[in-house]
Amino acid sequence: MRIAVVHKDRCHSRKCGSECILYCPRVRTGDETILLDEEGKAFISEELCVGCGICVKKCPFEAIDIITLPEELEYPTHRYGPNSFVLYGMPAPIQGKVTGVLGANGIGKSTSVMILSGQLIPNMGFFDEEAKWESILKKYTGTELFEYLQLLSKGGVKVSVKPQYIDVIPKVFNGLVKDLLKTTDEREMLSHYVEKLSLTGILDQNIRLLSGGELQRVALTAALAREADFYFLDEVTPFLDIHQRMAAAQVIRELAEQKPIVLIEHDIAILDMLADTVHVAYGKPAVFGIITRPKGVRIGINQYLDGFLAEENVRIRDYPVTFEVRTHDEGAKKSQLMQIPVMSKKFDRFSLQVNGGDIRAGEVIGVVGANGIGKSTFAQLLAGAVKPDTGEMTDTVRISYKPQYVKTDSTDTVEFTLRQITKAFDSGRYQHDIIEPLSLEPILQSPLSTLSGGELQRVSIAVCLSRDADLYVLDEPSAHLDVEQRMKLTKVFRQRIEGKEAAVLVIDHDIYVIDIISERLLVFEGTPGVEGRATGPFDMREGMNRFLKELNVTFRRDKSGRPRINKPGSFLDREQIGKGEYYYQ
Ligand code: SF4
Repeated sequence: MRIAVVHKDRCHSRKCGSECILYCPRVRTGDETILLDEEGKAFISEELCVGCGICVKKCPFEAIDIITLPEELEYPTHRYGPNSFVLYGMPAPIQGKVTGVLGANGIGKSTSVMILSGQLIPNMGFFDEEAKWESILKKYTGTELFEYLQLLSKGGVKVSVKPQYIDVIPKVFNGLVKDLLKTTDEREMLSHYVEKLSLTGILDQNIRLLSGGELQRVALTAALAREADFYFLDEVTPFLDIHQRMAAAQVIRELAEQKPIVLIEHDIAILDMLADTVHVAYGKPAVFGIITRPKGVRIGINQYLDGFLAEENVRIRDYPVTFEVRTHDEGAKKSQLMQIPVMSKKFDRFSLQVNGGDIRAGEVIGVVGANGIGKSTFAQLLAGAVKPDTGEMTDTVRISYKPQYVKTDSTDTVEFTLRQITKAFDSGRYQHDIIEPLSLEPILQSPLSTLSGGELQRVSIAVCLSRDADLYVLDEPSAHLDVEQRMKLTKVFRQRIEGKEAAVLVIDHDIYVIDIISERLLVFEGTPGVEGRATGPFDMREGMNRFLKELNVTFRRDKSGRPRINKPGSFLDREQIGKGEYYYQ
């Protein structure tokens, strides 16, 4: 079964001379396999196409995808039109359960939520006929979705949605946090969520002045406080520190006792803790998406990380994602890049104490700790941009910094922006080390202001790594990246500093990301907004133990070696706390 997708926004037939048509072997033998429609965009007949792929290679704007799918998929769930995105399968909301969805961005989440909220009637690929509930229900008879779709067909479903990109909230609401939240308090649970998610201090603030982490917690509260039949939460962890992630998980779990929740989440440790079942979503962004039937959480996540879906007999990645069971400290052999002196800095309401340490050339150091505990001040001290009150930076280094929140109104294209920073843009190494692993090729001609949160994050990482620097400091590079993109970060960081007198410091709250990318750990302790202490860098065992002890969270390993959060108070939790082994037991 073959699908042809033409990305209309990238198809410019007047600029390329319609090379797809000129070179298509079927057109050359007289068939009308590719035509230009009335807007001058390519239209490909899926019936006539033989799938040679020549048009895909000839198109200079990467506007065409030709994909062969297994016949077993039968009917799609929905297709927007000819030569456009197609979705197979759907997540199934189940009463009293959290249904997790794990997979890349751009492969059908929004379409699924539009269908499950009744905004879109699925057409099963028959886009030239009006979609009818009768035939849809017939198709889904005997599946987990039947009951839900039956309810939906009668128009009896109310949905509450937490959107993925929360920066739209200040654009549609200008006012105080408490005024926004009051309008959502349909379950009379507002004060409970305000307390659990620590929102009391910001209730009187204007929504436009909130940080990303605050806005994320307000958005989650607004979604959970509504009375609905089904809750759809699209990424709840970006910009939250690990304490806040655990608090968010707790309130979601409470609601799941009563209502069905579908949760899309790229922080696998949190998804693992929260979900009762998992659907794996795979495909090619903007081309096709396949959402599997539900799987057990452990099995679904392990199959996803392994890259092979056993029941579907499909390989979704040609390499497995693995975790280090040992504690890695290969950095001991590396030369010192800089000495971090003992120093301190006091502001009106916050003070930071740095206990001293070293950074070695060629290493990636993970930085963990709560939001508001002094990590950005620490980076400014290292760069010499802020002078310490006590102690002195003798080895100031050139720092390239990627901030936690990335916003821009610039209309410059991605390529123009990168060329302003580096002369190496056209080199093979730059393309191999930065452009390819960060999947920037399809968006090089897009203006920055039009990018999605995930695309902007990848561009910001590229901007940070393209500068000439000794130390690259990246604050929450995983925010809005899907799991695939998160796993590629290690490769990007290591390739960037390979053979150079440089190092990378990564501040992140996704434990799996920290585990996979870090050779050593810098741990921030203290009270957020009051006082912070930078300790380390430590080897991974000591660093994880210090960090998780403060959180009072332990991880066990399953048979695949993947760390999983222990249930608080369980036998393993108590045993590991007793031994002082919170992560590498
Ligand atoms: Fe023609 Fe299909 Fe080959 Fe494209 S893939 S050149 S449409 S036959």
